[in-house]
Amino acid sequence: MIAPGDAVLVLNAGSSSIKFELFEVRAEAAPIARFAGQVEGIGAAPRFTARDAAGRRLAERDWAEGGAPDSHRAALAAIIAWLDGVLEGRRVAAVGHRVVHGGPDLAAPVVVDGAVMERLRALAPLAPLHQPHNLSGIAAAAERFPGIPQVACFDTAFHRAHPWEADTFALPPEFYERGIRRYGFHGLSYEYIARSLEQHEPELAAGRVVVAHLGNGASLCAMRAGRSVDSTMGFTALDGVPMGTRSGQIDPGVLLHLIMTEGMAPEAVQALLYGNAGLKGMSGISQDVRDLEASDDPRAARALSHFAWRVRREIGALSAVLGGIEALVFTAGIGENARGLRARICDGLGFLGIAIDPVRNAANEREISPPGAGVRVLVLPTDEEAMIARHVVGLLRRSISS
Ligand code: ADP
Repeated sequence: MIAPGDAVLVLNAGSSSIKFELFEVRAEAAPIARFAGQVEGIGAAPRFTARDAAGRRLAERDWAEGGAPDSHRAALAAIIAWLDGVLEGRRVAAVGHRVVHGGPDLAAPVVVDGAVMERLRALAPLAPLHQPHNLSGIAAAAERFPGIPQVACFDTAFHRAHPWEADTFALPPEFYERGIRRYGFHGLSYEYIARSLEQHEPELAAGRVVVAHLGNGASLCAMRAGRSVDSTMGFTALDGVPMGTRSGQIDPGVLLHLIMTEGMAPEAVQALLYGNAGLKGMSGISQDVRDLEASDDPRAARALSHFAWRVRREIGALSAVLGGIEALVFTAGIGENARGLRARICDGLGFLGIAIDPVRNAANEREISPPGAGVRVLVLPTDEEAMIARHVVGLLRRSISS
């Protein structure tokens, strides 16, 4: 069913983009990335880009001549047409999909069949801005690769062993039974970091670690012995710390006020919370930390300051949940690159044993705490697509041997 030399295609279908990465299956090692790229701007001004594993740009297309893909199906067709030229006889043995929501029960990757698809569709109301697009990616890939396993990997799965206290809201139990729970997201990223710690820092992996996944979407996860104990995201990927365009945690009373007192339409509240809040909304300038750092507008400085404040607060909260930590890990676009923000986030956390070595931090070293620090602070790259590829290969190998 899957053999060394085969290809595994990983797809991450969002509202207006499909990202892809092609991996090659190896005998004794994790699958290795060969090509990656995306179609972005689906439905508006689509643009296709692709690069090789070294990051060299291999293709770029904007369909100025017409015939631009206007659906996920058409975008996938464009991706596959390009891949056909680079596959060099390799067989696509499986397609792995990033799916935001696996609900209360799907705690591991699954091969998608009709029944699974039904279950995933039923979860769409829990993640209306992501799930339907993830599922169109699966449908499009199943149509293009009939008979080839489509594997769904869930952002919620890594958090499914949360204790009940972390999983529930303070509502009557029937709400929990109805699925109104704190699911947590970014699970594929946290799992990648957990595996990376197991491989390179086994002592830390066995202990208590807070991981800060700070990208356009941002959340933090408390891990004990490589398992998620709690996380800042909740029922949706809107909770927790402020993000590029999402508000993060907000007093639910604000929403009631906006809707009931100010008469704001629920759809407008949704658009505000998901698309015009966070760094973008606060600064009025950009969702990108680089733009805000380069700006001399005081709103940019205030937005960054608030972001650092809230992330620091969550590090404290999750450290309390774990009863202390041995390591803090920064990952994703902001976590891996924004040196100034990392320093500001950690400022004042000395009481927990957290300190940053300014020279190591400025050099973006893997370990940015001073030698001998009580808590080791690491900067580790995440790779959700690689995690998906490993899951696909692992699942299909297990299904052969069982
Ligand atoms: P996504 O959630 O879309 O996968 P990423 O993890 O790629 O996002 O993070 C993207 C964000 O990372 C950018 O919007 C930007 O704020 C931040 N970022 C990327 N590179 C840098 C950098 N060199 N300095 C500061 N911030 C950066």
